[in-house]
Amino acid sequence: MYPCPSCGGGLRFDIPSQKLKCDFCQTAADPSAFQTLKGAEEEKDFEVTKFICSQCGAEIISQDQTAAAFCSFCGASTLLKSRLSREKKPDAIIPFKKTKEDCISSYRKMMRRALFAPNELKDESCINSFRGIYMPYWVYDVSHKGAFCLRGEKYSRSGDYDITRHYDLTGVIDADYQGITHDASSEFSDDISESLAPYNVREMQRFNPAYLSGFYADTYDVSSRVYDQDAAGLAGRISYEHAKKIPVFKGYSMKSKHTANASLFHTTMNYPHYALFPVWFMSYRKNDRVSYVSINGQTGKITSDIPIDYKKYTLCSLLLTIPVFFLLNFVVFMKAKSAMIVSALLLILSLILSFREIAQIVKKESGAGDRGLFRGSAPQKIKIPFSETWKRFMKDKFSVPGILTSFCAIAASAVIFILNPVSDYYYYLGAAFSIIAVFLTIITIMRNYNILSTRKLPQFNREGGDDRAPEK
Ligand SMILES: [Zn+2]
Ligand SMILES: [Zn+2]
Repeated sequence: MYPCPSCGGGLRFDIPSQKLKCDFCQTAADPSAFQTLKGAEEEKDFEVTKFICSQCGAEIISQDQTAAAFCSFCGASTLLKSRLSREKKPDAIIPFKKTKEDCISSYRKMMRRALFAPNELKDESCINSFRGIYMPYWVYDVSHKGAFCLRGEKYSRSGDYDITRHYDLTGVIDADYQGITHDASSEFSDDISESLAPYNVREMQRFNPAYLSGFYADTYDVSSRVYDQDAAGLAGRISYEHAKKIPVFKGYSMKSKHTANASLFHTTMNYPHYALFPVWFMSYRKNDRVSYVSINGQTGKITSDIPIDYKKYTLCSLLLTIPVFFLLNFVVFMKAKSAMIVSALLLILSLILSFREIAQIVKKESGAGDRGLFRGSAPQKIKIPFSETWKRFMKDKFSVPGILTSFCAIAASAVIFILNPVSDYYYYLGAAFSIIAVFLTIITIMRNYNILSTRKLPQFNREGGDDRAPEK
C-alpha cells in the first residue's frame, strides 16, 4: 500500500476521481505520479502479496498485506495463505470505471427478475462479497500489409456444359488490428471472459502498481501462444470480409473454403501486451457446486450463472401443470383421444429438451471450448458422440424414473391408440400418465439446469509462466 504524502495513511485507488485518495485526510494524487516517485519504471517485475487458497489452489495478488478472508474462486471461507512475491509487471491496465455501488445496483436489478433464484443470493452478506479483481489478458496487435490474391469464380452455361472460370483477384492491403484480447488466466474460464467482452482497449493506461491499491489481481498462467492462432484468424476473417466487398470484385463468387484463410495476407504479429482488465467478481457456493457473477468493471456488463431453487420451482411447476391438465381435458373440451395425443407429444418434446440439455452438460464437463484450461492442446471444436450422451443419461439415477415412466407412458398411449377403445376413460388415463411423465422429466430438466448453470469446485494447478521469451 502506498503511504499518503501528507499524513502517512494508506492510499487507495478511488474510482469516481480515477485518483489515489487517502482514507484519512482526503489527499488525492495521480497514479502516474507514483511511478516516477518510485523510480520503478525500468523494473520488469514488482512486489506484491500473493494469497493462495489451500482448498482450490487459486492464487490472487494484492498490494495490501491484510489477510484475504475468503477465496473468490471456490468460495472457501478460510484465511488464505499469504507470502511476498515478485510478479511480472503487466504492460497496461484499464482502471476500474464502475464502482462497487454501480455493480451492486445492477446486480440487484438483475436479481429482481430472477424469480427462482435461491434466497441466499439476495442476502446482504452475499451481495457485499463482490470483489474487485483485475484479470490478466493478452492483447494482440495484428497487421496485414502488402499484396494479396483471392480466388474468385464465375459460372456460365453453354449448351450442355457448366463452365466455371477461375480468377485471381489481386489487391494491396494495409490494415492494422489493435487490441484483440484473450484472457490469460486458467482460473477465469473462457465462457466468462467471452461474455464480459468487449473491453475498450483505447482506455488502456500504462501499468502502474498504484492502480492495484484497494483491489486484487489475478496473474497470468496461460501462455500467450495459446491464442496466437485465434488472434491471427480473427484479423484474417475481417480482412477477408472487407476484401470481398471491394467494388471491382463484384460479380465474382468466392465460395471456396480455401479462400478464407489467415495466410492469405502478409500477417505480422507483435509479442502480445500483458494487460489487466477490471472485473467485479462474486461466487456462490452450494455443496460441491459453485456459480459466479461477474461484471465488467469498465462497461458494467453483467454475466452470471444463477441456479434455480429446487423447492420454489417444483411448487411453481406443480401449480402450473395441474391447471394445464384440467384445461386441456375438461375446459377446452378437447376430445379424449386428442388430449392423449397432445399429452404424448408434450412428453416427447420434454424428453428431447432433456436430452439436449444432457448433451450440453457432457460437452461442458469435457472442458471443450476452454483452451486456457488445456493450455492450447485441445482442438477448437469437440464433437461429443451420441453414445457419450446416452451413457450419461442412463448413469444419472435421477433421470431414470423420469425416462422409465416416459417410455411406459408413450407405449401405453400407443397401445390405447391402436386398440381404440370405446370408453373415454382409457384415453384420459393415457393422458394423465403422460402428464405425470412430463412432470418427472421437468424435474430432471431443472436438476440438470442447475448442473449446467453451476460449476464443479475448481481445482487449480497453476504452472504459471510464459514459455516464450519476448521478441524484442
Ligand atoms: Zn493522508
Ligand atoms: Zn479457493
